[in-house]
Amino acid sequence: MLHRRKGLPDSWERIVDEHVAVWNMLDDEERAGLEAMSDWLLRHKHWEAARGFALTDDITVTIAAQAALVVLGLGVDEYREVSAIIVYPTSMNSRGVYAGPVRGTVTDGVVPVLGEAHDHRGPVLLAWDQASHAARHPGSGHNVVFHEFAHKIDMLDNIVDGTPPLEHRVDFHRWIDVCTEAYEALRAGDDRPPLQTYGATNPAEFFAVATEAFFDVPVALLHHEPNLYEVMRDFYKQDPATRGRH
Ligand SMILES: [Zn+2]
Repeated sequence: MLHRRKGLPDSWERIVDEHVAVWNMLDDEERAGLEAMSDWLLRHKHWEAARGFALTDDITVTIAAQAALVVLGLGVDEYREVSAIIVYPTSMNSRGVYAGPVRGTVTDGVVPVLGEAHDHRGPVLLAWDQASHAARHPGSGHNVVFHEFAHKIDMLDNIVDGTPPLEHRVDFHRWIDVCTEAYEALRAGDDRPPLQTYGATNPAEFFAVATEAFFDVPVALLHHEPNLYEVMRDFYKQDPATRGRH
């Protein structure tokens, strides 16, 4: 098959070394996987800059590497429904600029949006300043790339409900029990660090927020939410809390 799009640029290793902090925590095998998946994402997905913004290698490589990290244990097929990655320079203000959360609507309030994941073959929209900051400075529990790509994985069964296709990696009832307990606690107003309270919005946001915590603050998640860490570890087939210990 012939692909006209270019994959990783020659400078990709300098870029991940400077821009993607987790790169220095990965072992050789993980690095090779991240390289191959980032290359695939750059070749096979449509990359676009919004609003007169221009894409650079720093931008595409940094985003691709973070998206690849999420599926490092699973493979790029998890992103088969991602048609395009559209990058904004900064938070998108919703008024009159982009489609609202419901297809065919336009939101009329001004709300800063860091990213969006559209369902079916829809694109992922990302704010570059947010994606860049999160890549350089992990440890906050916020990462817009992990968040939006988790939504695309959740959407693979066409039901956006916080339960992606588990493919027997995690027992369904165990998944529901663990996620529901933490979700209901957040909804009741409990503080469940390192989970962001935004996870109480709905089950889909809970899964996206749990994914952010799992990859961005894995040691804290393992410590505070061991059950949730365990189901996420089995689902993503990764154990990020052990990184950096070798
Ligand atoms: Zn979300």
